[in-house]
Amino acid sequence: MKNNTWETLAAYGSEAGTIEIQGSGYKEKNVKYRRIITYMEGSSTEKETAESLEELFKPLGEDWLLHFPLYVDPKIKKFIGSRLMQYPFKTHAAYETWLQYCFEKEDTHIVKLAGAVAHSSKTVVLTGAGMSTESNLPDFRSKEGWWQKIDPTSIAVPEAVENNYSVFTDFYSERIKALESTAPHAGHYILAEWEKSNLIHSVATQNVDGLHRKAGSRAVYELHGALDQVKCHTCGMETDIDDFLQKKPCVSCSGRLRPGVVLFGELLPEEAWTGALRDIEEADLVIVIGTSLEVYPVNQLPRMTEGKTIYVNAETENEHGSFDLLVEGKAKAVLEKAEALLRTMSFY
Ligand code: NAD
Ligand code: ZN
Repeated sequence: MKNNTWETLAAYGSEAGTIEIQGSGYKEKNVKYRRIITYMEGSSTEKETAESLEELFKPLGEDWLLHFPLYVDPKIKKFIGSRLMQYPFKTHAAYETWLQYCFEKEDTHIVKLAGAVAHSSKTVVLTGAGMSTESNLPDFRSKEGWWQKIDPTSIAVPEAVENNYSVFTDFYSERIKALESTAPHAGHYILAEWEKSNLIHSVATQNVDGLHRKAGSRAVYELHGALDQVKCHTCGMETDIDDFLQKKPCVSCSGRLRPGVVLFGELLPEEAWTGALRDIEEADLVIVIGTSLEVYPVNQLPRMTEGKTIYVNAETENEHGSFDLLVEGKAKAVLEKAEALLRTMSFY
């Protein structure tokens, strides 16, 4: 056998010594790999050769993650990177350093999010108004939110239908009309695509804008109902949006019409609630996107799972410790980056 020149593909170390992963035969397209362990004391070395990186790493289990990397060659960053993504909830310093070496330009929190999505078997996504602000629908509690203009608890209540109907209809007519010129953004489409590709199981949302449905998500639990489903406040009969916009009474009982959204103090639609709760209880991953988690009972859902939990929000400083991973960023950008990672790392 002719003498190969070995080049270093990765090096990592511990107090006991250094481990090098080397490769040779790149030019000949017949790559072989070997691992060399150099011990501090006595500088004895061990060599192990393999036909593939998988073969070389297999006996190591997760051990190598505990050693600090010294070098990772661009040629094997994808291989190492995709292995790192199998352990998204590790937090020790050596693991974080490996991530930085392999994903220099990425937010490693998003790398972990993508890894969790790729490796979970049942993922539920729970969204709030922050999922829709990038479709130009204001949320409640941010600086540009509704709350700054009007207190929703004075209008989004059954009493407003009964005692303040004209303000109630103005408020909801404005929101229904705003929806007509509103489209899902890339983040909504990515969640729909992930569902089709079996990367996620379902979406539970507090949003009443229907944008998940519009984007093509099928397993959607609309926990607070939907603006585009108008019904009679008295008898519950469903009718057209236009009847509500024209302030017509119910044709069946002459009662007042209203959008099919859950008003403060009302019960959640039972089917949506039990479906979402069951999925979340069974999930091994729950991703919470763009909600302040201030509205009961939906804010109880993330703790109903025994799975891992991830919180994605433009602001994360108020969330302490109850989630396994915090990802600070806007819903659209975070989902776009996670999607790009899943594709470049060939997870689907
Ligand atoms: P919220 O207004 O209380 O909280 C919104 C959260 O989203 C905040 O934590 C904010 O930091 C975050 N956020 C804002 N923009 C974001 C972005 N681009 N990316 C990531 N995070 C972002 O909303 P909530 O928790 O959903 O509860 C409010 C209630 O209001 C719900 O009951 C919901 O039904 C209703 N609501 C719905 C809509 C809608 O359907 N689009 C809009 C406003 C309010
Ligand atoms: Zn009626």
